[in-house]
Amino acid sequence: MAMIPKETIEEIRSRCNVVEVVGSYLPQLRRRGSTFKCNCPFHQEKTPSFSVDPNNQLFYCFGCQTGGDVFKFVMLYEKVDFREALEMLARRWGVPIPESRPRDDKIGRLIEMNRAAEAFFRGRMADANVGRQCRDYLEGRGIGDETIEKLGIGYGISLNPGLGVGIDFQAEDVAQIAQMSEKIH
Ligand SMILES: [Zn+2]
Repeated sequence: MAMIPKETIEEIRSRCNVVEVVGSYLPQLRRRGSTFKCNCPFHQEKTPSFSVDPNNQLFYCFGCQTGGDVFKFVMLYEKVDFREALEMLARRWGVPIPESRPRDDKIGRLIEMNRAAEAFFRGRMADANVGRQCRDYLEGRGIGDETIEKLGIGYGISLNPGLGVGIDFQAEDVAQIAQMSEKIH
């Protein structure tokens, strides 16, 4: 997956007023002097200590010390990662997210292929039937699901057919990756 260009991130940030965004999630948000306040969505409370500052475009809770910018709020509230939060906001505010690299960028294509292959092998590992035996084996060696997930361990069996399905691989790129991995080993 291509990186989102920095300018796009800033463009999304500039279009998303933190008061508007937070207010769309928390309709009880009310102006109190120079900031906006309401009960905190991240901890239980009866008197509002959750504050949104339109000048700094930040939010902060004096009760549980949760705070950050508009992206952080969406990440926490929607329980999504940074990229997903960006995409949600971009969709809502109609900011197009361009690819950060042109299609003829060789390195970008090689990275994308590696990522696609990683996703494929991880998918095999996660598969209830195919990956079961392998996960049992790893479990026996003290490697649990959490470690598998964290290290991105995949299962390299039954290569064909499968790898390459739905992925636009070019033969010369595959050859180059094979060459590169030979140099590494
Ligand atoms: Zn709080």
